[in-house]
Amino acid sequence: MTRITVVGAAGRMGRRLVALGHADPALVVVGAVDAADHPEQGKDAGELAGVGPIGVPLSAELSAELSAGPSVVIDFSLPEGTRKTIAWCAAHGVGLVIGTTGLTDADDRAITAAAGAIPILRASNFSLVVNVLHELVARAAPLLGPGYDIEIMEAHHRFKKDAPSGTALALAQTACAATGRSFKDDVLTTRSGDDVPREPHQITVQSIRIGDHAGEHTVYFAALGERLELKHVSTSRDSYVLGALRAAAWLGGKPAGRYDMKDVLGLG
Ligand code: NAD
Repeated sequence: MTRITVVGAAGRMGRRLVALGHADPALVVVGAVDAADHPEQGKDAGELAGVGPIGVPLSAELSAELSAGPSVVIDFSLPEGTRKTIAWCAAHGVGLVIGTTGLTDADDRAITAAAGAIPILRASNFSLVVNVLHELVARAAPLLGPGYDIEIMEAHHRFKKDAPSGTALALAQTACAATGRSFKDDVLTTRSGDDVPREPHQITVQSIRIGDHAGEHTVYFAALGERLELKHVSTSRDSYVLGALRAAAWLGGKPAGRYDMKDVLGLG
């Protein structure tokens, strides 16, 4: 049984981490941390998560009591909070799963340094299916060879600011690495004009933004007469939550080191 503490516990991801972590027989939620000025400070984290009281109040600081036994902190907050969490976990010998985005290269170096003292795992996308999709793309691309066109299509809700999505670009990167293409030279994010037929080496990433779409990524492999579509459909952010909880259960009791979702899936 791994004891977990959630940082950012009053946020959208944090509340689902508490709710689904509480329901997971391999985990016990022992701590819930959020910003000191959060208006819900002191309230029961289970009640905030909609699962009833679990005896864990929302607090402003990580507690040294958490260091006993296999214990993991899961941080889905903001970079400023995550920086404090990395330092605290390294100083107290507690494992750490990081989902916060927007971290800098210096933060990434701090994560690598902390891996000398604790087991630590950072992932930009915790969805197990997206991680498996990367693996399938990496296997399919060289199996099919250069005669098969590779294109990527992603769809998200109308409020999404960035395009293409980070996940679509990461999938393009995986396809490039698997086929010897250059991400910089071969990946396009638009195709428009009077005379722009597909060049064999190109991978185009197309984005559409519609309504409240929860997110979809399709990687196409096509030649004359046939097509393979590898598609991930997201229906809620619980996919990331379940992946992060699986990572925490896996990380509990592991030796110090830097891990990723490939290790969790046994693909490392
Ligand atoms: P959110 O804004 O709903 O929640 C963030 C929470 O962190 C808030 O409750 C906020 O008060 C808290 N917080 C802010 N500063 C803090 C500090 N110094 N210490 C402790 N807590 C602090 O955001 P969200 O949608 O829950 O997303 C949280 C993070 O997770 C974002 O960076 C988001 O991009 C990332 N995310 C990652 C993945 C993934 O798969 N890696 C998936 C979804 C979201």
